[in-house]
Amino acid sequence: MDLPILMYHAVEAGEPSGYGYAVSAAQFERQLDTIQRAGFEAISLDRLFDGLDGKAPLPRKPIVLTFDDAYRNVHQVAWPLMRDRTMTGTVFAVADHVGGANEWDEGKGMPRLELMNAAELRSLADAGWEIGSHGCRHLELAQVEEARQRDEIVRSRSQLESLLGIVPEFYAYPHGSYTEQVEEVLREAGYRGAVSMFSRMGSVTEDRYCMRRVMPHRGDSALSFRLKLSPIYLRYVAWRDQRRYNGGQRSEV
Ligand SMILES: [Zn+2]
Repeated sequence: MDLPILMYHAVEAGEPSGYGYAVSAAQFERQLDTIQRAGFEAISLDRLFDGLDGKAPLPRKPIVLTFDDAYRNVHQVAWPLMRDRTMTGTVFAVADHVGGANEWDEGKGMPRLELMNAAELRSLADAGWEIGSHGCRHLELAQVEEARQRDEIVRSRSQLESLLGIVPEFYAYPHGSYTEQVEEVLREAGYRGAVSMFSRMGSVTEDRYCMRRVMPHRGDSALSFRLKLSPIYLRYVAWRDQRRYNGGQRSEV
């Protein structure tokens, strides 16, 4: 099945921090309006999978809004805007950095941004948001040996469970980096699925441990954002990804 799974990071009110993956609050608000006007209903990945498994009906036009790294401004800025529209999202938290900052970006010319603490993550979960794992230390899984892959996948799950009282059912690959071996580890560890940026598959949910996402960014116009929500765009990125894989390139950006 094809549906847009949007990949956001930070949503910033006021002066831009210079963080490359941020969108502004005003832009985010316009995008939420576009999503609603187009008739989409925001659902969790859990509900998507229940729908795929025939356990629950899916809305006519489902969409999933995901937020990687669990920046504090998602709690402060994105959540109120979504709450006003009775929308919920999925946050992928980095287990060893809950309540800290994006230290993994240090030295890469990225500003330091605060991350949500456990109480903030819990308040989102209480409001119906889904909390997934983004590993323990934001490692690129394809670049590390198996023991470290397991540590990221298994320990982040138990650590987020003890911090939040929630068992993460989904994983987001930092930098979109994964291997077939990693998908197996996730399956064994009990995750229901995972999201990436790229996929070898023709449709979004064909490989549930590597679902392709669409990234809105600061440079998007109203028109380019509307295009990113369309089935044609999903077919285009599937074609682009398959060319990328057939060309033997790596899966990261
Ligand atoms: Zn990340």
